[in-house]
Amino acid sequence: MKMSRRNFLKIAAAIGASATLLKYKLDVLDVLREARAEGYQLVWLQGQGCTGCTISLIQYPDVLGALESLAVNIPFHPTIMPQAGVYVDGKVYPKTLTTDAMQILDDTIPDFTVVEGSIPAVMLDGLETHFCEVSGRSFRDLFVDVASRTKTGILAVGTCASFGGIPSGDPNPTYAEPVSDVLTEAGISTPLINLPGCPAHPDWIVLTLAHVIQYGLPALDEKNRPIDFYGETVHNKCERLQYYEKEKYDKEFPVDEKCLFLLGCKGLVAYADCPTRLWNNKTNWCVRLAP
Ligand code: SF4
Ligand code: SF4
Repeated sequence: MKMSRRNFLKIAAAIGASATLLKYKLDVLDVLREARAEGYQLVWLQGQGCTGCTISLIQYPDVLGALESLAVNIPFHPTIMPQAGVYVDGKVYPKTLTTDAMQILDDTIPDFTVVEGSIPAVMLDGLETHFCEVSGRSFRDLFVDVASRTKTGILAVGTCASFGGIPSGDPNPTYAEPVSDVLTEAGISTPLINLPGCPAHPDWIVLTLAHVIQYGLPALDEKNRPIDFYGETVHNKCERLQYYEKEKYDKEFPVDEKCLFLLGCKGLVAYADCPTRLWNNKTNWCVRLAP
């Protein structure tokens, strides 16, 4: 059974009673089961990141059910796949009874490629950098290879993949770049969706995937982010907004309930629906006091 666009937008908004949200997530499961039936292939690559985006996804109870439906369609994920294998002198070790991991990647024509982490330079001043390699291959070359044969879409998951993130912070010693820059430099035009956040919320990943499968690309902003999730600043929906407007600020930790602007909050320039979507199965978010 297909989900209506109206219901999907309700999911995307994720505002409402938890029981209602759970119902819609079951709809998402239906979508992903349909994806399996149609044989979509999703490859997940990890560059310069902390694996936090993967952990965010697989630790989230409801989405774990969705991911299980999708798992058979994820032939390559360095963290969760059971297969192993590395290249040594042009050969793959260890030889196992099943196909090795890198061979699986080489043999896959992905419908979707998910990238977690930024992408460092391969060469600097004529020297090979070896900043980030996967099984002896530079991550940049590996990504360009996989991206160039990806059929439907590339998802840059997390701030590292979307905008460079922490690895690209000044002075950016590895010359790390976001996925978008590498795609441009490589002349690859496969549609790109950025899902920034540190880590990315599991809803953003699964619901974006569900939207692409059901309807094609979602509406994106000028930074290739789905407007449903990133259309407003965190500040606009913050529960401490009333204190900001009255210029009442917390000035030291531990904080009270006033605005956190003077303590470094970036909510005015951060676009995401964290205040209403909430984290850890709708438990909390970074601005709220611990329960
Ligand atoms: S965006 Fe954050 S959580 Fe995700 S890989 Fe980068 S540092 Fe880790
Ligand atoms: S805590 Fe941050 S997001 Fe919330 S009102 Fe203050 S500045 Fe805005």
